[in-house]
Amino acid sequence: MNQPLRVRYAPSPTGHLHIGGARTALFDYLLARRHGGAFVVRFEDTDQTRHKESGIEDQLNGLRWLGLEWDESVDIGGPYGPYRQMERLDIYQTYLDQLLQNGHAYHCYCSEADLEQERAEQEASGEMGGYSGKCRHLTPEQVAAHQAEGRKPSTRFRVPADRMIEIEDKVREHVEFESNGIGDFIIARTDGIPTYNFAVIVDDHLMKINLVIRGEEHLSNTPRQILMYEALGLPIPDFAHLALILNPDRKKMSKRDESIIQFIEQYRELGYLPEAVVNFIALLGWSPGGEEEIFTKEELIAQFDLDRVSKSPAVFDMDKLNWMNNAYLKKAPLTRVVELSVPHLQKAGYIQGDLDEAAQDWITALVGLNQDRMRYAAEIVELSSIFFKDELVIDEEAAAVLKEEHVPVVLASFLTQVEQAEAFTVEAIPALLKQVQKDTGFKGKQLFMSIRSALTGQVHGPDLNVSLYLLGKEKVASRLRNLL
Ligand code: GLU
Repeated sequence: MNQPLRVRYAPSPTGHLHIGGARTALFDYLLARRHGGAFVVRFEDTDQTRHKESGIEDQLNGLRWLGLEWDESVDIGGPYGPYRQMERLDIYQTYLDQLLQNGHAYHCYCSEADLEQERAEQEASGEMGGYSGKCRHLTPEQVAAHQAEGRKPSTRFRVPADRMIEIEDKVREHVEFESNGIGDFIIARTDGIPTYNFAVIVDDHLMKINLVIRGEEHLSNTPRQILMYEALGLPIPDFAHLALILNPDRKKMSKRDESIIQFIEQYRELGYLPEAVVNFIALLGWSPGGEEEIFTKEELIAQFDLDRVSKSPAVFDMDKLNWMNNAYLKKAPLTRVVELSVPHLQKAGYIQGDLDEAAQDWITALVGLNQDRMRYAAEIVELSSIFFKDELVIDEEAAAVLKEEHVPVVLASFLTQVEQAEAFTVEAIPALLKQVQKDTGFKGKQLFMSIRSALTGQVHGPDLNVSLYLLGKEKVASRLRNLL
């Protein structure tokens, strides 16, 4: 490519950033960075029925959180703005006039009811093929009559007959469409506002976009767009249509499916790390070859290539994402994991207000104890509930351990140690346990498993010394007394 690469993510601002949109944006971003190009974020808000004003900020926030910095958009401007379609209406009008003048478009006076009737007739006769073209050749008298009735026209593109439209898609490779199946489509509604298919080509042209990356659901729009580029004598960009993302059960992802988390905002709220989410999304359809699955953003930029984007659908695997996020959390600085965890502990009511230094240390130890086990930060609440709840739930295995004969001896001895202990710190606790071993003669599993079961209600768990410290002297002593 001799022109610098210019790519765009062009969401309709109908809500939060969805995983599918995030993937398009990420692929755009990676290619733009790799080739020193520009990543444009443009808002396609001409469908006012689906529009949500907060959608613009929601989308940008999602991209921002993922670290996908854009070069041009509504907030920072750029040389080809405005970057929001409703602010570009006069621009579309110029191109619309051009199409009307050279006969590639015409006014259509059909009402919703007319079109409905046409569809019913087509259905009855078994021929399905879009708009019939009824208004293609209206006489001036017919136009005058429609206008006298007060009808406002929409504008349709005149689809040429018998054309084969070929696309050399960067992902799908060769794709062809016959123009005969398309039917003249609406490019501006009766209120003059352009439809997506028309506005998108005007914008992509004027914004000098030379590669259009988007989801496969738009593939059938592409022949329509190519015909309009041709009618206006404009150069046609390259296209890359990304295959669907499927649910874990290999069905088409529906936004209503709650078994997977689909919105980037939810990942942020649950305490995922953006770099893990980026890594995961990059692998939804792309693979660099080889076994490695963990990539920094810089590595992705250096390696990402459309040649290795698959034509077949990607399957969204929540377990893999959780595995990956855990891998990133394990390596993250503890202070960062603490920062992510604190809001969840607050929300659960486990901690309140400002934390003094001792409380800070305690929370840091608590998060440190669980850092390797957490899949995302919100899990800290469940993983650490034994340190906050007064009553202890003893699971079956632990209950079995607690029935063993040596247990009361061990627990009584440990209680004595705890009561006498001056310091109950992570450093001091091993000496207390050692003393129990000396006094009772029980060691290893008999010693540690009894104490762990009695105090945590489970036979397995994280580091015992830290767990005891986190429970604190009072809670340990009272749990022991209760059991004895
Ligand atoms: N506004 C369209 C959407 O949100 C963008 C399609 C395109 O990238 O051309 O699906």
